[in-house]
Amino acid sequence: MLQHILETSVYPREPDFLKELRHVTASHPSLSTSMAMMATAPDAGQLMAMLLNLVNAKKTVEVGVFTGYSLLLTALTIPEDGKIIAVDVNRETFEIGLPVIKKAGVANKIDFIESEALPVLDQLLQNPENEGSFDFAFIDADSVNYWNYHERLMKPLKVGGLVVYDNTLWKGTVAIPDALVPEFWKQERELAIELNKSFAADPRIQISHASLGDGITICRRIY
Ligand code: SAH
Ligand code: CA
Repeated sequence: MLQHILETSVYPREPDFLKELRHVTASHPSLSTSMAMMATAPDAGQLMAMLLNLVNAKKTVEVGVFTGYSLLLTALTIPEDGKIIAVDVNRETFEIGLPVIKKAGVANKIDFIESEALPVLDQLLQNPENEGSFDFAFIDADSVNYWNYHERLMKPLKVGGLVVYDNTLWKGTVAIPDALVPEFWKQERELAIELNKSFAADPRIQISHASLGDGITICRRIY
């Protein structure tokens, strides 16, 4: 099913620069196969681009850049005067994809910050100008802090704006009994289950939990 979706609907429409970034990531000598798999799934990316267009996203924030697949996708989708605050603790992986981002002519839209994401969001909150000013956020790092990101994002996000959380199905482990889950995934599984319940109980947002990639939850701020 996934192969059909990718071959029929996704790859033929995937911009060449994104294809290139995907290949650079998959073949980079310093990245293991399992690391290269961290990049956003192209089918989830396709939905993300549509969401960005639907809300006319101009000002966005991304937590978890890695080599920049979702970042380049966002930069290619938002308008010329759009801005992305992109945060990652690791600049080296960002630099693997940077030449492709530059070649695509969209590096000017990106403000990359090498840092833990929480303090960056806290700083954003300090500036009253940021309140209700973001159209879109993509959260794809540091799952222990997802709820902390969520609480912090509700203010800078516009009413009607979207936050997309990645990896909310955690390799499908949310749906299998705890006893059958490999030890190294247990904590993340538990966190994902709790998080999904918390999203469902949060009256500030409309949600859609889509089983694309590793699971993405789309949250729309409703007040
Ligand atoms: N969105 C990316 C994938 C992100 S993978 C893509 O499409 O390719 C997760 C990334 O989060 C890694 O690059 C890792 O360095 C970063 N990360 C982990 N913990 C973090 C934290 N606390 N703050 C910011 N970035 C973090
Ligand atoms: Ca991810």
